[in-house]
Amino acid sequence: MIKKFIRRVLRLGSDSEPRTVPKEQHGIGREAISQGSRKVCEVLHGRGYQAYVVGGAVRDLLLGFRPKDFDVATDAYPEEVHKVFRRSRLIGKRFKLVHVMFGEETVEVSTFRARTPAETERHDRDRFQERDHVVDEHGRVVRDNIYGTREDDAIRRDFTINALYYDPASETLLDYHNGLRDLQRKSVRIIGDARARYREDPLRMLRAVRFAAKAGFSIDERTRKPIRELAHLLGNVPPSRVYEEMQKLLLSGHAATGLRELRGEALHHGLLPLLDVIFGQPMGERFVTLALEQTDSRVRSGKSVSPAFLFAALLWHEVLAAWKKAQQRGLKPIPALFEAMDAVLDIQTDKLAIPRRLTAVMKEIWALQPRFEQRSGRRPFGLLAHERFRAGFDFLVLRSASGEAPEELTQWWEKFQQAGEAERQAMLMAPQPGERRRRRRRRRRSALPPPDPAQV
Ligand code: ATP
Ligand code: MG
Repeated sequence: MIKKFIRRVLRLGSDSEPRTVPKEQHGIGREAISQGSRKVCEVLHGRGYQAYVVGGAVRDLLLGFRPKDFDVATDAYPEEVHKVFRRSRLIGKRFKLVHVMFGEETVEVSTFRARTPAETERHDRDRFQERDHVVDEHGRVVRDNIYGTREDDAIRRDFTINALYYDPASETLLDYHNGLRDLQRKSVRIIGDARARYREDPLRMLRAVRFAAKAGFSIDERTRKPIRELAHLLGNVPPSRVYEEMQKLLLSGHAATGLRELRGEALHHGLLPLLDVIFGQPMGERFVTLALEQTDSRVRSGKSVSPAFLFAALLWHEVLAAWKKAQQRGLKPIPALFEAMDAVLDIQTDKLAIPRRLTAVMKEIWALQPRFEQRSGRRPFGLLAHERFRAGFDFLVLRSASGEAPEELTQWWEKFQQAGEAERQAMLMAPQPGERRRRRRRRRRSALPPPDPAQV
């Protein structure tokens, strides 16, 4: 009776039976799975629970990429998982997760989740919601999702290629939504009705683009179609979530393709509205493209990249435009630059919350740019000793490669860095008309380093 009710509510039809794929067919042995996630699955199994490696790790292994991390899904409740593993902690308020620590590795363990209203048949929705909401004595919703079965968990995942369950014990793969077929077809396909799933969580639109760019897949037509129309919904997603997802896209090694696709789907409006402006002018486009290509090639060859540098590059031409306007209003160059930087960051962080530690570095990189033009007296020495010199100089290189800064300036700095003391002295130039003598005299008396225009 109860079972019948559950089947009806959850619409467990024939598609609730997963395809079970043995190792001979998918090729992933348990040694491909991280030590930590294997251990988590083993221990949970030992206690009579189900436990599978899920999501991105399984997808990436099947694609031949090295997974960044391994997530586990289980039918054990978070509190139970926490109790089983001494080195673990419960995180999250509305939906609890457990982080299990094994030395360097942290395995994220989540309990199978129930499907959400959008995934439930319309006529069952009211009953579903009743069952789904847990309210405290003040009527506040304290938990708006309950745990579900493995089938539920599979249906609430975003794309078919992200809904594969790997069991390290039997080395089999459970495929509920033809994820394996879509991997072979190189297709990003949403589970369920695209429109409803995007309304439920608009970030999925951005994720579709990210996975397509990262794996070189195309987005299935029914998955792609509603994006353009619903793109504005991204504006309702908390800026911090948008930032996380955007950072993943930018550091995926396929940022150039990813951003092009974002523009193709008109998805960038709410995120980086500035991109429209930037790509609209040849120099801005060249600059951003160069920055993205450089980042992609660094990521692909395993080098570190700085998100601050990349975001600084994405927004630079916007800063330039605002800088120019502020000067036209009569502000002096340096105060005008600082006003421009703040204005651009204010608008931007409304949509996509770039963390403060990053914006601080971005500002430093930007503020260093006018200082490269000052090549007289002690100033170049001060700049060379600046802790962000490297990033600032790399930024200048990009600017001149895109035609925005003189090639000659970059070459001068290249040479100045390599040169010995005597040669450096010989390279110094006469003060430009804008470089005031008064400052230099004051400096000589006090023997202090040159004033930092960035501090003016
Ligand atoms: P990556 O390797 O880039 O982290 P991922 O697939 O692991 O990719 P995560 O954001 O780590 O992405 O999410 C892990 C899994 O959780 C996904 O594979 C997917 O099954 C599920 N998931 C994540 N975000 C959503 C979402 N917004 N809607 C539905 N399912 C999601
Ligand atoms: Mg992941």
